[in-house]
Amino acid sequence: MVALLTRGREKSNRQAVMTAIFLLLKRSKATVAAPLQRSALMLLATLSAAGVCYAPRDAAAVERNCGPDALGVSRIIEIDRAKGTAVGLQSYPRTLDLRDHEVVLTFDDGPASPTPQVLDALAKECARVTFFLIGRNAESLPALVKRAAADGHTIAHHSYSHPDKTLRLMSEDAAKADIDKGIAAVNKALGATAAPFFRFPGFADTPALVADLTARGYTIFGSDLWASDWSHMTPKAELDLVLSRLEKNRKGIVLFHDSQGITAQMLPEFLRELKKRGYSLVHMVPGDAPTPIVAAGSDWTSTTEPIIAKTLGPKTRQAPQAHEHEHEHGAPEAPKSGEP
Ligand SMILES: [Zn+2]
Repeated sequence: MVALLTRGREKSNRQAVMTAIFLLLKRSKATVAAPLQRSALMLLATLSAAGVCYAPRDAAAVERNCGPDALGVSRIIEIDRAKGTAVGLQSYPRTLDLRDHEVVLTFDDGPASPTPQVLDALAKECARVTFFLIGRNAESLPALVKRAAADGHTIAHHSYSHPDKTLRLMSEDAAKADIDKGIAAVNKALGATAAPFFRFPGFADTPALVADLTARGYTIFGSDLWASDWSHMTPKAELDLVLSRLEKNRKGIVLFHDSQGITAQMLPEFLRELKKRGYSLVHMVPGDAPTPIVAAGSDWTSTTEPIIAKTLGPKTRQAPQAHEHEHEHGAPEAPKSGEP
């Protein structure tokens, strides 16, 4: 039954993407310059081939609206939807293979009341990001889920209930049920299949849950740096903090929360600062190409495990993961304080 539903949904989504391509071609003849038309078509073709189940807003129209001073998106990277992995140096000994001064922006815990302000700020800069949604919130605010997708953002998963005790301290069956209920709730709100991307609430994964999700084609996202926007501080303090961490890392997957008002308030200035300081924005979409990853250096240690152990108790600590040595890559400096 589930397989049948999934197949039906994929078919209707492919049709939606093909319709979007057709409409774009039709409109492009009269109004869109050839290079922009080509890049828009390439994007749509990539998304179509990848089976991405939402039709992003016409990329050329977005570029026309934003102009050359906007941050925009410098490139799109595909995350292999057939072969899951776990990335983000704060939790895993590997991350996305980003170039110097490239950032991927991710937002957790929405949709929530500050989300429209976040979406406005991103739209103004033609920025595209990934939202890791709480299923329960998606049920309550489905219009915001649809708007985020229509704005071209990637929609991903962050459990149904974001349990305080974390998925790690639940029974495996209960944790899997919460994850799957969240996936179903987000897909229902979206009216399509969201990206097979998952972030564990509080980064509190377990080897069994990671193995189960990656075997199903889900890529698990940690982060390379975060804004500590769960802490009490002013928007300016958050801006200074995340920029200082970024200047040290020089690139990476950045974690924010669109549920946090301070993040919504600081975001316009953060995006302008990215542009001013020469950073470029990379957008992640599900695809068929191998996920570009780079392994951490031999001195890698988890940033999140000591925090989880402190928060939930020492018994929750996971065994160290097997190390990979394909490439050398410096681990980021651990944040001084705070919990995800
Ligand atoms: Zn969260």
